[in-house]
Amino acid sequence: MSFQHVCVLGATGSIGVSTLDVIQRHPDRMAVYALTGFSRMELLAEQARSCAAQVVVVPDMAARQRFLTAWQGGAAVPEIRVGEQALVDTASDPQVTTVMAAIIGAAGLPSALAAARSGKRVLLANKEALVAAGSVFMKAVQQGGAQLLPIDSEHSAIYQCLAGESPAEPGKAVAGLRRLLVTASGGPFRSRPLEDLAAVTPAQACAHPNWSMGRKISVDSATMLNKGLEVIEAHWLFSVPVQQIEVVIHPQSVIHSMVEYIDGSVMAQLGQPDMRTAIAYGLGFPERLASGVGLLDLATMGRLDFEAPDLLRFPCLRLAYEALRSSQAACVTLNAANEIAVDRFLGEQIRYTQIPEVIEHCLDSLNGRASQTLDALDAVLDLDSETRSIALDYCRRAPGP
Ligand code: NDP
Ligand code: MG
Repeated sequence: MSFQHVCVLGATGSIGVSTLDVIQRHPDRMAVYALTGFSRMELLAEQARSCAAQVVVVPDMAARQRFLTAWQGGAAVPEIRVGEQALVDTASDPQVTTVMAAIIGAAGLPSALAAARSGKRVLLANKEALVAAGSVFMKAVQQGGAQLLPIDSEHSAIYQCLAGESPAEPGKAVAGLRRLLVTASGGPFRSRPLEDLAAVTPAQACAHPNWSMGRKISVDSATMLNKGLEVIEAHWLFSVPVQQIEVVIHPQSVIHSMVEYIDGSVMAQLGQPDMRTAIAYGLGFPERLASGVGLLDLATMGRLDFEAPDLLRFPCLRLAYEALRSSQAACVTLNAANEIAVDRFLGEQIRYTQIPEVIEHCLDSLNGRASQTLDALDAVLDLDSETRSIALDYCRRAPGP
């Protein structure tokens, strides 16, 4: 493996912080070239200093000033690039070999796509890129000659279970594969009485039993919309039809997902719920790198449980399956409507149980446009922003908590 110069998009987030932790364990094999942040400029300055980043990307001039204020003398200030285009340019910068795409939401799409088009090793955490623009993104990977390594723990697990097995041709599933079994913890409300769900608070929804993550994905885990996004992500990554992708609830989050073959053999990947394993796998591939993750003590754990997801409790999972069966436009709509709904829920403007209502309303508003082809980024982003307006309007009119 040649020396890697890494651009971490979304360095100040949960995945970004874990990525820097892994990179700093391997100074002989990789170094940070660029880091990007959005609101946390003090943290970005601290990270840029400790990794000796050559470039940072910030959203606007006010953030640039805050970054400079936070940079207290000493080492030379890194080059500061500003704005959305700078994210795209840095992801495709010729100095960069490897891009960690860990910006949250559809905001991360253009830069992830730029990394794919310019043939980088792309470590994809931003699942929204595949949900909203699966066909565009996979085509960019192929045409750009990029190496795509999934970072979402379930997809890293499936990738590892498929190790050595590659499809006969691009866009075809691996031969002999029967099902992908995507595991889900069930989140904090797996066994909460259904009638209590209308009153749950953002803090309760963000208190994930096993994983420590950003707030948006934590809410998505509570509603299981996250698992729905992951089913769509798996469909694009592994070219597997929707009817061969199943979700199974596994509250301990030790098995990160499984692959079942037609001979009945089931391969599983196990590990602690720590994203550094998937990140180290992506950074090191095809070699294994130390990640700082400790031993898996199965004897102490004692048992692993499984159950089928209850679609009455988790309507967002049903909506995601329906969107995938329906069209790409429905997937774009699902994702955009959910981003608004979760944002409003975190801002205590709508109730937890209104999240699926917002999504369903936006999906219903699609009408005949569901069949429109979305083969360019602009078309995806147009539908994305149109859906956001519909969702915002619905939230404004909905009775509050
Ligand atoms: P966080 O909310 O912790 O971090 C998001 C990052 O994106 C931060 O660096 C943030 O900057 C930046 N950001 C936010 N909005 C914008 C914007 N409009 N433009 C540019 N940058 C922006 O999220 P996570 O790290 O939890 O998740 C990142 C991605 O990884 C998501 O797509 C998520 O679905 C995926 N993922 C995360 C997992 C996890 O364990 N956390 C597991 C699997 C997938 P700042 O903080 O400075 O505002
Ligand atoms: Mg996941």
